[in-house]
Amino acid sequence: MIAADTPILRIDPAAIAANWRRLDAENRGITPQAATGAAIKANAYGVGVEIAAPALAGAGCRHFFTATLDEAIALRALLPDIWIAVLNGLPRGAASEFLAHHLHPVLNTLPDLADWQRVATAPTAPAALLHLDTGMARLGLDADDIAQLIDNPARLGGIRLDYIMSHFAAAEIQDAPSNHAQSAHFAATYAQLTRAWGQRPKTSLANSAALFLGPLAASDLARPGYALYGGNPTPLSPNPMRPVLHLAAPVLQIREIPRSAAVGYNATWTAPRGTRVATIAIGYADGIFRAASNRLTARHGGSTIEQIGRVSMDLLTFDVTDHPEIERGSLLTLLDDVQTIETLAVQAGTSGYEVLTRLGPRYRRVVEPLYSGA
Ligand SMILES: *Cc1c(COP(=O)(O)O)cnc(C)c1O
Repeated sequence: MIAADTPILRIDPAAIAANWRRLDAENRGITPQAATGAAIKANAYGVGVEIAAPALAGAGCRHFFTATLDEAIALRALLPDIWIAVLNGLPRGAASEFLAHHLHPVLNTLPDLADWQRVATAPTAPAALLHLDTGMARLGLDADDIAQLIDNPARLGGIRLDYIMSHFAAAEIQDAPSNHAQSAHFAATYAQLTRAWGQRPKTSLANSAALFLGPLAASDLARPGYALYGGNPTPLSPNPMRPVLHLAAPVLQIREIPRSAAVGYNATWTAPRGTRVATIAIGYADGIFRAASNRLTARHGGSTIEQIGRVSMDLLTFDVTDHPEIERGSLLTLLDDVQTIETLAVQAGTSGYEVLTRLGPRYRRVVEPLYSGA
């Protein structure tokens, strides 16, 4: 029996590679010469950057996006030859780090531009990306900044821009009016800015979901993340991606409790009948949301089993009265090709992105092919 007291996360790098190729085909169906990158921030959405990054590079991905400078430096150590951009921008005083590790900064503010200008003409300076806010109000130049830049394009003097980028606020909702508004806003701003500046950098727009919006989100470089790791980029339709993960935890103990006995902290579940309870080795410290207490399910041999009581730090309890085959050492499955990231997200009242990025540090991680034939 393997790892009898530890949750086991199985990860299929071939499925990550297949998902990248699928998204790349989608992207080139819209823009034949376009490139498809990969968002690999937050430890590749919890999946493990040291597993995901080589799989993506092996599939042909050349463009990687991290959130932070530290993530980018770690990724550079893993893959010396790839193109890496840092979405969170250029921290004050950090320009030399970008040169030393050959990282492409995303310039989000006018002070970012001024900082980068000081190093941009150095022979080792990488090209930058310019981020225009078209309706997220999060990062990127706002309308005032853009007006100042159009008035005075010398603020871009000496800077080499690889891409001008923007980000959609609701790409996963196919008919959201904001998608059209942001796309039109980007096209108009790009035209004004490049006319004033006299250069026409490439563009970068689509996240995972936007790749399924058709020509609306067409650009030279896509930046999918979630769908690479098996998340559904089209939540209102069946998932076109291959599942990447399998998460299971072993039963530590089985007990029988009488009718009216309570289970777990604060007695949030009381037995309506004599009940057989299985306790498994996974809890909120492993990314299983406490908010999903009494709503979670697990799978075993094709059946669905109900979780009962509060989610503890290291443990979950299940009603296995009708499953005598479940015993000490049995594995209950939390994630597979039927119970998906989205299933857990609904049970926890959150998004699949949060389910992924909470994947725990304590799992025994096994890299192997999954769901062959899928
Ligand atoms: C995280 C992120 C992405 C990737 O988005 P997904 O929805 O995970 O595909 C792309 N662009 C930006 C700016 C991001 O922050």
